Amino acid sequence: MEITLVQGDITEERADAIVNAANSSLLGGGGVDGAIHRRGGPEILQECRALRASRYEKGLPTGQAVATTAGRLPARWVIHTVGPVYARSEDRSHLLASCYTESLKVADGLGAKVVAFPAISAGVYGWPMDDAARIALSTVRESSAQVTEARFVLFGAEAYAVFEEELRRLDA
Ligand code: ADP
Repeated sequence: MEITLVQGDITEERADAIVNAANSSLLGGGGVDGAIHRRGGPEILQECRALRASRYEKGLPTGQAVATTAGRLPARWVIHTVGPVYARSEDRSHLLASCYTESLKVADGLGAKVVAFPAISAGVYGWPMDDAARIALSTVRESSAQVTEARFVLFGAEAYAVFEEELRRLDA
């Protein structure tokens, strides 16, 4: 699997699937989640509501992933995953890593080859960007999924620079 980094807005990505840093309710939120629902239109929320009424009555658990249509977005699917809220008192790294492995598993199930990821948990959920980048990149690097490209779409120059540095470190 090739790892690529770009700076930009994930809602504009022409990938097979884009990953949403959702919350457990699946009913929308701020950050990437808000942007995806805003730009993707009501079809995505409709499928999320159906998921809440069937497989995920209590919401999507942290570290798991599920796909819906991408509505009006250029991507074909949105893979929703719920990152852990950062906590100093407890190591939740395995849950953050799980977001990436589970999303890639869902992508494989769909036959998606190019998958775009945001920096899950590194926004409202408070995860320090360098640590979030290290976990994201090392998890994807170790994956044996059939996805051919994992593209990290970083919002802003600072996030991009942090991912670039962590990728360099990983490859060193
Ligand atoms: P979380 O709740 O998992 O922390 P957020 O959406 O708050 O999720 O933030 C995750 C990361 O996504 C942050 O680094 C944030 O700056 C970034 N982000 C916000 N909007 C977009 C977007 N449209 N495209 C790509 N990344 C985005």
